[in-house]
Amino acid sequence: MTGSMHGRVRWRLTLWYAITLTLICLTLSTCVYLFVRTSSMLLLRTQADRDVAYVKALIDEAGDQWPGDASVARGPGGVRLFGTASAQRGERVTAAWREVFPAGLLGGSGQSDRIVQGSNGRHYFLHEAKTGTPGGPYTVAVAQDVEQTYAIGRKLTLLIWIGFPAALLASLAGGYWLAGHAIAPVAQMARRARDIGAENLSERLPVYDRDDEFGQLAVAFNDTLSRLEGAFERMRRFTADASHELRTPLTVIRSVGENALQHPGDGVRHADAIGSMLEEVDRLVQLLDGLLLLTRAQDGALPLERTVTDVSALVAHSIDSLAVLAEEKRQVLVCANAPGVLATVDEATLKQAVYNLLANAIRYTPAGGAIEARVASRAGEVVVEVADTGPGIAPEHQAHVFERFYRVEPDRSRATGGTGLGLAIAQWAVQANGGVIELESAPKHGSIFRIRLPVA
Ligand code: ADP
Repeated sequence: MTGSMHGRVRWRLTLWYAITLTLICLTLSTCVYLFVRTSSMLLLRTQADRDVAYVKALIDEAGDQWPGDASVARGPGGVRLFGTASAQRGERVTAAWREVFPAGLLGGSGQSDRIVQGSNGRHYFLHEAKTGTPGGPYTVAVAQDVEQTYAIGRKLTLLIWIGFPAALLASLAGGYWLAGHAIAPVAQMARRARDIGAENLSERLPVYDRDDEFGQLAVAFNDTLSRLEGAFERMRRFTADASHELRTPLTVIRSVGENALQHPGDGVRHADAIGSMLEEVDRLVQLLDGLLLLTRAQDGALPLERTVTDVSALVAHSIDSLAVLAEEKRQVLVCANAPGVLATVDEATLKQAVYNLLANAIRYTPAGGAIEARVASRAGEVVVEVADTGPGIAPEHQAHVFERFYRVEPDRSRATGGTGLGLAIAQWAVQANGGVIELESAPKHGSIFRIRLPVA
């Protein structure tokens, strides 16, 4: 397929090249031919004018006497073919003229320049000029043998006729070679590209010259490969992580079930086991919900409806619904909202983000700690902050906590019911609303998660 396409492009280029070159050759040779023709005609005419002047001088000198053939030899040009014609004296011509031309050729046609074939088969350029005195008006005619000029013209035509197909063939061959040479990198790229698959996405096309068109094509293709490789890698990691996450609760359910089975008739133990199993199932459901949400968000399958929303009220609601959890841990949950701060956002997704940040703050802040949520409006943006007095996050972890399944302390997060998706979902939700999410934290000094949203 690619091979034949390559061939086709090559032939197409060759053809274009040949056609262009042929047209150029055609134009050029026509120009040369016309130029040679015109300039030889011009030369002939100049020569003829000179001859006429010479003949006229002869006649003037002879004083109305026919100078005759003898005087011809005296002239520098040695004009052998000339004659005169007048009403009074009729046609008077040289002997040489009489040899090749029939009588009565002069003056009759009224045409001053023409090509005439002589009785000897040769062609002559005949030039007539009207003149007068001595003895009234008469016509002087001179003839020149043009066989040599003709021969040059014929040779030129022949040259063009032979040279033309030769040039055509040469341009076809040259074009074919050139085109092949020019598009060789494409074939090479196609070969390499065909060998690149999911298993060797790290390979790249060769780039010979970044600045030429093929180089740019290869660079663009390589960029696409890089993006694909990144996406593949993320997907691979995601699948591995997701399986791992799903495996843990399933393993727990299994061992709890097996354990219960070993104690038949122990109702209390069984009820306990069922309770633990349900807890794990809840976790699984939560995990799958989170995964589904993120996957659909990534595919752009979640329609967002952005309306003017009271962010202060939204944060206050989230605090209300989480207050019980904070109470259980004897934490102080403070709401320091400026009233009526508005932003154009999708309420449900933003609420999810705020909820996740608050839930994390409650989860990771030890019992007796304090959590504060603040909403403020400043310099064209709405800022929501969730600050806690928890363990904080070390700088090396800060860049990663927003990744799926990333946990600073995996065991603690699992033990407290974390799915490892909370911050990933929060980040998506904020970005989907045109905002950014930031983290300011130091180990042992608590954390501040900050959401910044554009007002409009
Ligand atoms: P998880 O379900 O594990 O909480 P998240 O994506 O919500 O997943 O958070 C990722 C990790 O970031 C958590 O495991 C935790 O280690 C850390 N983290 C998140 N919020 C806080 C916080 N307020 N204080 C300290 N660590 C936090």
